[in-house]
Amino acid sequence: MATISLYSIGVEKLRGVGPLMAGKLHKLGLLSVQDLLFHLPLRYIDRTKITAIGGVQPLTEVVIEGEVRASDIVFGRRRSLVCRVQDHSGLITLRFFHFNQAQQQSLQPGTTVRCFGEVRRGKSGLEMYHPEYQLLNQAQPPALAETLTPIYPVTEGITQQRIRDLCGQALKQLERHSIKDWLPAELSSHHSNYSLVEALNLLHNPPPGTALNLLAEGEHPAQQRLASEELVAHHLSLLRLRQKIQRQAAPSLKPNQAAAERFLEQLPFTLTAAQQRVASEISTDINQPIPMLRLVQGDVGSGKTVVAALAAVQAIANGMQAALMAPTEILAEQHRVNFATWLAPLGIRIAWLTGKLKGKAREVQLAAIADGSAQIVIGTHALFQDGVVFHNLGLTIIDEQHRFGVHQRLALRKKGAVIDADTEGSTPHQLIMTATPIPRTLAMSAYADLDCSVIDELPPGRKPIETVVLNELRRNDVIQRVRASCQDGRQAYWVCTLIEESDVLEAQAAEATAQELQLLLSELSIGLIHGRLKPKEKVQIMQAFKAGEINLLVATTVIEVGVDVPNASLMIIENAERLGLSQLHQLRGRVGRGSQSSHCVLLYSAPLSGNGAARLKIMRETNDGFKIAEKDLEIRGPGEVLGTRQTGDMQLRIADLQRDAHMLPEVKRIAIKLLHDYPDNVDPLVIRWLGHSEQYGQA
Ligand code: ADP
Ligand code: MG
Repeated sequence: MATISLYSIGVEKLRGVGPLMAGKLHKLGLLSVQDLLFHLPLRYIDRTKITAIGGVQPLTEVVIEGEVRASDIVFGRRRSLVCRVQDHSGLITLRFFHFNQAQQQSLQPGTTVRCFGEVRRGKSGLEMYHPEYQLLNQAQPPALAETLTPIYPVTEGITQQRIRDLCGQALKQLERHSIKDWLPAELSSHHSNYSLVEALNLLHNPPPGTALNLLAEGEHPAQQRLASEELVAHHLSLLRLRQKIQRQAAPSLKPNQAAAERFLEQLPFTLTAAQQRVASEISTDINQPIPMLRLVQGDVGSGKTVVAALAAVQAIANGMQAALMAPTEILAEQHRVNFATWLAPLGIRIAWLTGKLKGKAREVQLAAIADGSAQIVIGTHALFQDGVVFHNLGLTIIDEQHRFGVHQRLALRKKGAVIDADTEGSTPHQLIMTATPIPRTLAMSAYADLDCSVIDELPPGRKPIETVVLNELRRNDVIQRVRASCQDGRQAYWVCTLIEESDVLEAQAAEATAQELQLLLSELSIGLIHGRLKPKEKVQIMQAFKAGEINLLVATTVIEVGVDVPNASLMIIENAERLGLSQLHQLRGRVGRGSQSSHCVLLYSAPLSGNGAARLKIMRETNDGFKIAEKDLEIRGPGEVLGTRQTGDMQLRIADLQRDAHMLPEVKRIAIKLLHDYPDNVDPLVIRWLGHSEQYGQA
C-alpha cells in the first residue's frame, strides 16, 4: 500500500475542484483529503426506501410514491398549489407556495410521483410542503439511494451534492492510501469495535439498515470511536501546551515561614482547613523551578483572594514581583484596598495599573514596575499591554478566570514570559482563580492544561442565603422589605438587568430605577453604580457603600463579580429569569458574606419559560455553587457555560461534552499514555482534529 499521507494531498487535487472551489473549502478549514474525511455529516436522511403513505409519521423525512388524485390552485391567505397523492395505504397532501405553470401542468391527476420531504400535520391532515419530487415513468422507476444520505456542514457556494461528491472522492483515496491510526490498538478498542477506516466509511456512507436513531443521537459505535479520538486530540493539545510551558524554567520561590506568619497574624480571621490545604499546594508548586499552572476553584465567598495573597507574599519574600489581574476596575480596586491592608504591615509596596490610568500617574506606576520598587502590581488587562515591563515577575495571578478563554490565557502567559526584562527565558508561575465552580466535565476537558485545587469549605459562621422567587407584581412588597431591612442598619443591593448587551441602555434602566426607588424610599440614602461611570466615581460609590453611607445600592451587573461588602444582606434581582445560573449565583454571592442571615429576592415577569422556571427553582433550592454549575451545564450546554469566547476553543466536530462525558476519564488516561509512550503520534493526531487553526502549540 502506498505511504502517501492523505494529509499531504490538497483538496485542489480532487476532480472538479478549481481555485474558486478550493478557496471555499479552505474557508471551511478543509485543506487536504484528510480534512474532508474528518468533515463529518451533521445528520442523515433516509432515501433508501419508500414509505407507505398510511404509515408516515409527522416530523419525519420520508420518500413516498403515489398517484396524483387531485391538483388545484387554492386561494387562501397565500395562493398555493395543492395536490392530493394516494397509494394503496393512504392519502397525503403536497402544498407548493411557489410554483410555475409547467409544474402545475405536470402534476395532473393520474400522474405517478415520487416525493421526498418532511411530513407535517396540516389543515388537511398530513402534508408535505415543497417536497422534492420526480414524475415516474411506470416502465422504469429511478433507483432509490443505496445508503443513508449524509447532510454535511457547508458554506455558501458549496451544495450538499458537491460536498458529498468530494467526500466520496476522499473515501476512494482512503481505499488507495489508507490512513494511519494514531491510536495504538491497545488504546483504541475501548469505546467501540470499529477501526478508524471502518468508522469513517460508515459515517460518510452508512449502509442501508444502519440504525438512524443511534446516528441521530451520536450513539453509534462508529461515532463513539471517532468522538473518543477527537476528545483525546483536544486533551492532548492542552497537555502538550502544558508540557511546552513546563519545559521552560521558572524561579524557585522558597517558602518563607516568617513572612507567611507575619501575614497570617494580622488577618482578622484564621484560614479554613481548605484554604490551608490549597495554600500549601501552591507553596509547594512555586518552590519548583518549573512554572506552576494551577487553577483554584472555590465557591463564591470561599476566600480565594487571601490564598492568592499568601502566594504573592512567598514570591515577594524571594525578591520577585507578583502581578494580580482582575476582570473589572471595581474588582481590581477592591483587591488593591484589601492587599494594601493586608500587606502594609509587611512593608510591601503596591503598584496600580488600569486602562484608565493616564499621563503622569501612569508613568510613575510604570517606572515603579520596571525598576522593581513595586513588589506587587494590581490591575486589569492593562497589566499585560505593551509598554508594561516588569523588573522580575515571578508570579501571575488571574482572578475570576471564568471569563477568559484558553486563547486569552495563552496571550497572558506569553506576555508574562516576554515582557520580563531581567529574567530572560524564565516564565512566571501562574495561578488562576475561578469566579464560580466549573462543572467537572468541563474542568476535565477545557482546563486540562491546569492542575486544580478546590477550596471546598466556606469560612465559619456564614449563614446560608435564603432565596425567594417572586412575580414582579409584588414589587411594592419587596420595596417595603428593603425599607425595613435598611432601617435595621443593614444594606441592600438592587440589581437591574437588561437582555441587550448595551452599557448605555443598562445604565439608563438603572438610573430610572434609582430615581423611582429614591421617591418611594425617601428616607434612605440610595447610590447608583453602572458601567458608564468614570472609574473614580465607581470607586467612590463602592467606598461609600462599604462605609455604610449608602443604604441601598442600585447597580447593573457590574457588581457581578467579587464585590465584597459583608454588611449587605439583602439583594433584589430584577428580571432574574433572563440571567444564566452561574451569573445569578455570582450576583447572589455578593450577600451572605457577613454574620447576619441574608436574603435574595429574584423578581421575574410572567410568563416564565420552562428553562427560566427551572433556573429559578434551582436557585431557590441550593446555595451550592458546584451543584449549580452542573445544572447550568445540563440546561445550557458546554458552549454557553464556558462563555462565547471559549466556545471557539472547544469546537467539537463529533464529540459532545455532555453526551460523551462518561469517556473523559478514559480519554485522559489515553492522552497521557500517548504523550509518554507514543510522542510521535501526538502532533499528527492533534492536527487531524484541531486542524490548522490549532494554535496551542505556539504558546
Ligand atoms: P471569593 O472566594 O469569592 O473570591 P473572597 O476572597 O472575596 O471570596 O472572600 C470573601 C470574604 O471572606 C472576604 O471578606 C474575606 O476577607 C473573607 N474571608 C476569607 N477567608 C476567611 C476565613 N478563613 N474566615 C473568615 N473570613 C474569611
Ligand atoms: Mg473573588
